[in-house]
Order: sequence, then structure tokens, then C-alpha cells
Amino acid sequence: MSADRIDGKAFAAGLRERLAAAVPPFQAKTGRVPGLAVVLVGEDPASAVYVRSKGKATIEAGMASFEHKLPADTSQADLLAVVERLNRDDAVDGILVQLPLPKQIDEQTVIAAIDPDKDVDGFHVANAGRLAVGQQGFVPCTPLGCLMLLKDKLGNLSGKEAVVIGRSNIVGKPMAQLLLGENCTVTIAHSRTADLPAVVRRADIVVAAVGRPEMVKGDWLKAGAVVIDVGINRVPGAEEGKTKLVGDVDYASAAEVASAITPVPGGVGPMTIAVLLRNTVVAAYRRAGLPAPE
Ligand code: NDP
Repeated sequence: MSADRIDGKAFAAGLRERLAAAVPPFQAKTGRVPGLAVVLVGEDPASAVYVRSKGKATIEAGMASFEHKLPADTSQADLLAVVERLNRDDAVDGILVQLPLPKQIDEQTVIAAIDPDKDVDGFHVANAGRLAVGQQGFVPCTPLGCLMLLKDKLGNLSGKEAVVIGRSNIVGKPMAQLLLGENCTVTIAHSRTADLPAVVRRADIVVAAVGRPEMVKGDWLKAGAVVIDVGINRVPGAEEGKTKLVGDVDYASAAEVASAITPVPGGVGPMTIAVLLRNTVVAAYRRAGLPAPE
């Protein structure tokens, strides 16, 4: 058996087209386009790449991108002042502070300062709480992207056994909440889980968000499982001095057993930015008192 390859890149491209199509009607009603502000503190090269691609994708969707680049020695008070200004700025619907932040700044304090209705990353405790109790809010982009791929593949998820490996606030926990919301029977596994392969073998749906290259093997899986690989791990490539990206799942062996699986790269990765744009469009519609597009 060889699993279907879930093409996150193509799905994300389609989502981005649908979002771009939601911009002109918003502009016709409000006289402005949805706006996303991204704040980058310091010069971490990976963060700079993420911020650039988020800005580019925002503009490609016809929205306004506001980039705020602050020096690495920015004080917490100065960063909080920027966040406060963005909270009050009517042209800004979404605020994203790129993590990680330099050590003099407390990330939780900064996230707590973002207006929850502009918190398109979904990291504010108010949004974590809304997700937990089933209220409307913002859900972190990566797990929401994973859910979209799963629903596209499987339709109704009700009654499925789902195992989420990883319990971070950014991926694992919100992923588990989303699957519970879809009436899955959810298990959250983590570094202290006893006999992880046996736990994973129960699952119709496996979401791996661990950060360990190719940890999940094909013989851990139930035949026909759908596997979502969130991991992004850089490992030495075949050629001397070159590196390559791999997921948390050993794709070759997993594809022999699963019915469908996301590749790395080209699976979950492209969904994250597409969902960020989606959250921004939704924030704009909600703030304008308009029904948000699906
Ligand atoms: P974290 O490091 O915050 O969390 C990792 C989780 O994996 C923890 O809950 C940890 O358990 C668990 N874990 C670690 N080792 C094991 C093990 N041996 N067995 C079982 N569980 C284990 O990572 P994130 O959630 O932020 O990210 C996870 C992965 O997803 C990373 O590779 C990251 O790069 C990637 N990622 C990809 C994104 C995308 O856009 N595609 C976005 C965000 C992340 P414990 O809690 O017990 O320590």
C-alpha cells in the first residue's frame, strides 16, 4: 500500500485565492482592506525569513502589510508601546509579534498585551480559553491548518480515534481541542508517554508535533491511518555540507501503512501562512461587524 500524499501546498494556494476574493467585498463595504501588522525584534535570520514571507503573502492577497522591525536591544516597555499603538490603529486587524523574542522581553507579557480580537496567532490566553470552552475566537494557525487538511481528506471526523504527539501551547494542545471539537476521541501523547508506539497504533488520525526527525515509524501506525506531520527538522543531506528538511514522521515507512500522509516540506508548512491570512480576513470582517467568510 502506498499512501495518498496530502498536498498542503496546493490546498494553501486555493485557500489564499479564496481569501484574496474576500478582500474586494470587504473594501467595498468599509473603504479599506484588511491589514496585518507583523513585529520583528532583532535579527534572527529564520524569523526575518518568516516575517518577509508573511508580508509578501499578505500583499499578494490584496491586504495591507505593516512591518515593524525593532532593534535586538528594544526594551519590553518600548515593544509594549508598539503593541498598544497597533491595538488602537483601525487599519490594523491582525497583530503578530514574531517569536522568539530577545531575552530581556517576557513573551507572555507581550502576548497578553495584544487585543484578543486582533490576536491572529491565537496565542492570547483569552483565545486559548475561548477554544477550550468552544467560543468564537482565534485558533493558532498551524493546528487550524492541520484540521483543514484532515477535514478535506476525511470529511466528517466524528468518532475517529486521534492521537496528537506533542502538547505545546502552539500546536499540540490547540490541535487536541480542535479534534475534540470535531467529536474525535483524543489522546495527547508527550515525552513521558509510556509505550508511544502502542498509543499511536490505536489512532485513525495521527498528528505529530514533536520536533524529532523521523521519530514516528511506519510500524507504529494502524493500517489506513491518516498522518499529519507538523515537524520541521533540518538534518544533514545526502551531499556533504548540505542539509534537508524532514518531518517528525519517517515518510517512507509510514507511507507503506497509512492511507494518507502530509509530506515535509509541502504539507503543513504552507498552511500556516495561509491560515494566518485567513485569521486576518476573519478579524477584519468581525471588527467591521460583518459576517466573516467561511
Ligand atoms: P515544542 O518543543 O514546544 O513541543 C514538542 C512536544 O513534543 C512536547 O510536548 C514534548 O513533550 C513532545 N516530545 C518531545 N520529545 C518527545 C518524544 N520522544 N516522545 C513523545 N513526545 C515528545 O514544539 P512545537 O509544538 O512548537 O513544534 C513541534 C514541531 O513542529 C517542531 O518540529 C516545529 O519545528 C514544528 N512546527 C511546525 C510549524 C509549521 O508551520 N509547520 C509551526 C510550529 C511548529 P513534553 O511536553 O513532555 O516535553
